[in-house]
Amino acid sequence: MEETRKAIAWFEKTKKAQQALLKKSITKRRGYVTTNYTLAKGKQGKQKKYISRKEYEKQQKVLRTLEKTSELLTVETDVTVILEKIARTVATSLGAKQMSFFDFTPDRKGAFIIAAYGIQKQYIEHSRRDPLPIGGAWLGRAMSTGQAWATSDVQKDPVLPASWLPAVKKQNYHGLLCLPLMRKNEIIGGICIYYKNPHKSQFFEIDVMTIVANQAATAIENARIFSDLQAERLKTLAIVYSLNDGLLLYDLSNRVTLVNPRAQELLLVEIADIMHKPIDETLAARSVYLQNLYRIRQMMQKDYETREFTTEGPQKTVLEVTQVPVRAKDKKKIGVALILHNITREKEVEQLKANFVTVASHQLRTPIAGIKWSLDMLRKEEKGPLNSEQKDLTEKSFQATEHMAGLVNDLLDASRIEEGRFGYAFAAGDFVGFVKKIVDDLKPNAEARDLNYSFEAPATLPAVSFDASKLALAIQNVIDNAIKYTAKKGTVKVKLRVETSSLFIIVEDTGIGIPEKSKKFIFNKFFRGENAIRYQTEGSGLGLYIAKSIVEKHNGTITFESEENKGSVFMIQLPTNPVRMPKGALEA
Ligand code: ADP
Repeated sequence: MEETRKAIAWFEKTKKAQQALLKKSITKRRGYVTTNYTLAKGKQGKQKKYISRKEYEKQQKVLRTLEKTSELLTVETDVTVILEKIARTVATSLGAKQMSFFDFTPDRKGAFIIAAYGIQKQYIEHSRRDPLPIGGAWLGRAMSTGQAWATSDVQKDPVLPASWLPAVKKQNYHGLLCLPLMRKNEIIGGICIYYKNPHKSQFFEIDVMTIVANQAATAIENARIFSDLQAERLKTLAIVYSLNDGLLLYDLSNRVTLVNPRAQELLLVEIADIMHKPIDETLAARSVYLQNLYRIRQMMQKDYETREFTTEGPQKTVLEVTQVPVRAKDKKKIGVALILHNITREKEVEQLKANFVTVASHQLRTPIAGIKWSLDMLRKEEKGPLNSEQKDLTEKSFQATEHMAGLVNDLLDASRIEEGRFGYAFAAGDFVGFVKKIVDDLKPNAEARDLNYSFEAPATLPAVSFDASKLALAIQNVIDNAIKYTAKKGTVKVKLRVETSSLFIIVEDTGIGIPEKSKKFIFNKFFRGENAIRYQTEGSGLGLYIAKSIVEKHNGTITFESEENKGSVFMIQLPTNPVRMPKGALEA
């Protein structure tokens, strides 16, 4: 288009000077002329010949038709239709009999017709079945040299292989001009124009044909890009359609633009009921399944958010729904995608596991308490004296049972936390006294390891409201770890600190530390560091998981810093309550 406009402007300006741009080599023989045209870049010779008014007007008309054909490139999408229309328009306006466009065979050794004007269908089909070998004739030379080749009379020109003569005669043409189709310096095909009578191609015709070749090359290139895109689209669709997750696409006005089969199956909705319709209350009122679809969309608020949804209706399905933005090439948001992942089975298994843990630990608690009670009586020699070996054995059994009771309690706590049954009762209290009691209760453990064990706290603390039994469990777990994972004669310090609207319980130790690779897992359920397992074979890996959950329920945080073989510092931060005191008391 732009090229054509430029060519017309150029033609009008220098209507007398086209020849200067072309170099011509002519082989004249008796009865015919073979001509090879090459662009002589930068060579602007002086123009001697003038064209007649009539000729000028004729050429103008041809160029106008070219402008029309260039428009085809923007409105028409079928490349064959574009090429056929170009061929017809140009061939008729140049007074030619036929015109054809050629493509290479994949090995580039042959050429076949992709579109034509004035050529019988059977010839076109024949060329596809049995491509023309790229040889030394005009088309072959144009497609292999990238230059224009012409002959005034094919039938007399010896360049034509003798075997082709009957076919040429049958088609009844004499003048021939062939040009390459070029795209970014690459020859992608060829174009030939055929004249009924012997014909010497003019420079003007070469110009016109060069523009036509450019238009055709653009059309072919566009078609290739389009078919690549189409193939890409089909590939994407195939993936989307075979996904094991449901996929729903919404445009910005909340209409569904794509539902893959899995989404239909999970939500039990029909494509026809929802496609391109706004998913609103009116639609939702039609069935419980459409209600599910509506509620899922309503539930999702933010991009990249994942939420759980349980469908209503005879079949309960638990879905993990993730929302992702859909963006156009320029990054502008054009809609959202909801990915529906079926987690019904996982949920069932999780529930079974949780039930098992709860039931098992509940059932274990009573017998363990009984064993512990009996062993305690025995080791205290309440039922008669024991010899030292018996005493040692009962003592060890008692310790092991105590450990088992602790483990069962941790398991019960963890499953209660998960089921949301870990009831909390908050109350304000003497926080220093509360922490001191925990520290004191653990003193025997610290002493058994000969640790330098200390507690330090400010004289007064701002009020905090807490659940004493739960928070005690959390703090106890952290201090207990510090004691457990510190070698004999090490140091464990517990400190209370106050900072703006926060209270910190800091537990420092000089123990085994936490290896870098374990750091991100230590609050996970059942996780135990490798060095910790080596150092202390016993442990459930539940202590910090429980502690974190409790602290977070107090709106606090639990963090740590640690270096392997140097020690760790755990910090529990709790928000302090607004202090209710008589006016002026704060300044006092
Ligand atoms: P447990 O102590 O029963 O293994 P926890 O949940 O209390 O389970 O702790 C998880 C893991 O965190 C421990 O196994 C250990 O690897 C690491 N850890 C916790 N506290 C400390 C500490 N003070 N020093 C070194 N490692 C620790």
